[in-house]
Amino acid sequence: MISGETKLYGIIGNPVAHTMSPPMHNAAFKELQLDCVYVPFLVEESGLTNAIEGIRAMNIKGLNVTMPHKLAVIPLLDILDPLAEKIGAVNTVVNNSGILTGYNTDADGFIKALLDNCIYTRGQRVVVIGAGGVSRAICFALAEHKYEVCIVNRTYKKALGLANEVSHMFNKDVKAYEMNEQNLKSILSGADILVNATSIGMDSTIGKTPVASTLLSPELVVFDTIYCPIETKLLKSAKNIGAKVIGGLDMLLWQGAIAFKLWTGLEAPFEIMKKELSKILELNEN
Ligand code: NAP
Repeated sequence: MISGETKLYGIIGNPVAHTMSPPMHNAAFKELQLDCVYVPFLVEESGLTNAIEGIRAMNIKGLNVTMPHKLAVIPLLDILDPLAEKIGAVNTVVNNSGILTGYNTDADGFIKALLDNCIYTRGQRVVVIGAGGVSRAICFALAEHKYEVCIVNRTYKKALGLANEVSHMFNKDVKAYEMNEQNLKSILSGADILVNATSIGMDSTIGKTPVASTLLSPELVVFDTIYCPIETKLLKSAKNIGAKVIGGLDMLLWQGAIAFKLWTGLEAPFEIMKKELSKILELNEN
């Protein structure tokens, strides 16, 4: 029930209709019997400043920020968490009596999903495919947590730009490669973890994989950031040869769970959120 005291949370983006965040957070609010509601807001790029002022004016307690606003929102906030500052992107805003603080829970969500699923030893070698927004958060998070990172991308210039930024920020040697079979073969032979941070495997590329199954090995941990479908072709191939696999749903849930805690101060009911999203994703797939 919405009451006179209901606290409002939401997500801003364009497009925003596809977002999984409302069912995930509303399921969590319901489970913990919190008088809170989470809604999507379609915000055009030209409307971002007004939207952020609106958060203060309407006392919206917290926001998620998705494309195309993750970078542009930064100058409109009052405080920036140090990791979000390093990454240069914000996906969560906390409104504390009109003071807006920006965080990047994609980065911590990725690390949490990884650590939840595999043993961490400092210095593990990670190959990240893709150099877009998600790859950016992942590469900074990996470097922050002392993993060795290399970046492979279809557009080499973007991989190189990101690799240089991470190298400079963490004083590390981060290499960049153009995405082709020969490069993947040589890099993967010495890798511990493979992360797909491209969109290959979803929407129009469902059934496609960024890495041929012949290049995978059972010793590799394979993490696909895609959550729809829940099991991509890459994950199926990796599972078939006995590799450990981690799907994007875990990352989506953890970034949400971390944002939930920042907003409410409470541990998110992770299993309830997972059950809700799995149900929706399975319905979408059938
Ligand atoms: P983005 O900024 O648009 O970047 C897309 C990346 O995919 C780029 O590196 C692009 O390469 C590459 N790419 C796209 N199509 C390709 C193709 N046909 N062949 C080779 N490379 C291709 O997108 P993003 O926001 O980073 O999202 C990337 C993925 O992350 C999406 O699949 C999305 O499902 C997933 N995601 C997961 C979560 C989660 O919580 N699990 C959250 C958000 C997004 P170029 O640079 O060459 O164009």
